[in-house]
Parts: sequence; C-alpha cells; structure tokens
Amino acid sequence: MPPITTPAIILGALRYGDTSKIVRLATRDLGIRSALAKGALRPRSRFGASLQLLSEGVAHLYLKETRDLQTLAAFDLTSLRSGLAADLPRFSAAAAIGEVAWRFSPAESHPDSYDLLSGALTVLETAPEEAIEVLGLRMLWRLVSVLGFAPALDRCARDGTPLPPDTPLRFSAAEGGGLCSRCADGHGVSTLAPVDRRALEALVSSEAELPVFDERHAASHRRLFARFLRHHLAEGGEMPAITFWEERSWVSR
Ligand SMILES: [Zn+2]
Repeated sequence: MPPITTPAIILGALRYGDTSKIVRLATRDLGIRSALAKGALRPRSRFGASLQLLSEGVAHLYLKETRDLQTLAAFDLTSLRSGLAADLPRFSAAAAIGEVAWRFSPAESHPDSYDLLSGALTVLETAPEEAIEVLGLRMLWRLVSVLGFAPALDRCARDGTPLPPDTPLRFSAAEGGGLCSRCADGHGVSTLAPVDRRALEALVSSEAELPVFDERHAASHRRLFARFLRHHLAEGGEMPAITFWEERSWVSR
C-alpha cells in the first residue's frame, strides 16, 4: 500500500534509539498521530533538518490503524517557521498553541482546528513584537472554541440563564464560563469587570477588534486562560508550554 499524504505540523519530536526520531504530528486529514521517522538522525537522512518543532509540511505516512505508532516515510517541508524562534514571547505563544492542539485535538480529521493552528503559527511568525501577547491569547481562545469548548459568556454555563451585557462576569473555569447570580453562589468564581469581560469576548471572537492590555491585565488574562484549560485536562496532565507562556518564565522578577 502506498503511504497516505496529508498536511502536517510537528508538535514534538524525541530521539528513538541511535538514529531515529519519534514525532508527534498534527495532521489535517488524520488528526493527531505519532510516527517513527527511521534514520532521521543519520547525517544524510532524507528528512534533513525538516523535523523541527512547529515546522509544517506534507507527511507521507504508512498507517496501521491497530497501532499507536505509525511510520513516517517522508516529510516534504513547506515551512520551517524559523521566525518563531526570533524571541521568547513569540516562541512561547506558538509552543503553547501547539501544546493545546496536541492535548485537545481528536485522533481523527479535524480540518478547522488544523487550519487555525497553521494560520496562528503564520501570524505569530510575522506579527510585530508588541502584538504577540494579545494575538497569542486570541489564537488560544479561538483554538479551544473551534475544538468545541468555547467559554460561555452570554449565558450561564450551568443553566443557560442569559447574562446581561456590560455587567461584571462571574467566571468559573470549572463550569466552563460565566455563571448567573444564582449559580455563582458559593462557587469558586473570579469576577471580571465589564472592561475585562469585553476584552475576553473580543479575544474569543474571530472578528472583534483586539483589546489593548497593559502587562498586569495581560497577566490576568493569561492566568484566566490557563485555569480554564487545566479544568478541561484529564487528571494529572501537565502542560509545560502553557505554564511557560502563562508565567513568562524568561522575565526576571
Ligand atoms: Zn445559572
């Protein structure tokens, strides 16, 4: 059987034996897949330097549906995305988005989330430095929304009661969004002032004008997203790229 070809983005790579790599791929046509790239570490490997974190190309995969590990026959590079490595804010936002794709995408074709991931990496590679923070937040909220767990912002996440606009939003990460006053009672909620609520609504939307943040507000929005995400992750799961992005660990305090 000939290999199946699909657009793919490298979400992770680790050494396997002396000469091979195992790569984690987001693929457009087959969802998230792990594959063995035999001989990828040999000096004259046909993979060359193409199997870098977040690089995009066309993967040629030999599939055995009964196995977790597929075989990567070739990877025709279309973008190395080397611009993402230009600075840490850019790289950490891109890595965080890659991690969300890895942990939350289904193991079957999901073109909308693949296209969003690919588009987000292109935007982050080329956007001006001062826009990276807010663009990263927009892409992360867009990706979780496309993957089917958008936060509830205009209706109570528990009982669907409409939440009046332009009022403070009682946000519960555990419940997946805003709560009405009845449901919010006794819950671990963070209250967003109307201006922060509008900012969150703008981030989640695909069209709204992007909000402008100072560092303090940006930090609280990063925390809000990370908390929301962790409530959707299976017990014991870790997201080191999200943590690195959330804490801006490269900034000395
Ligand atoms: Zn309610």
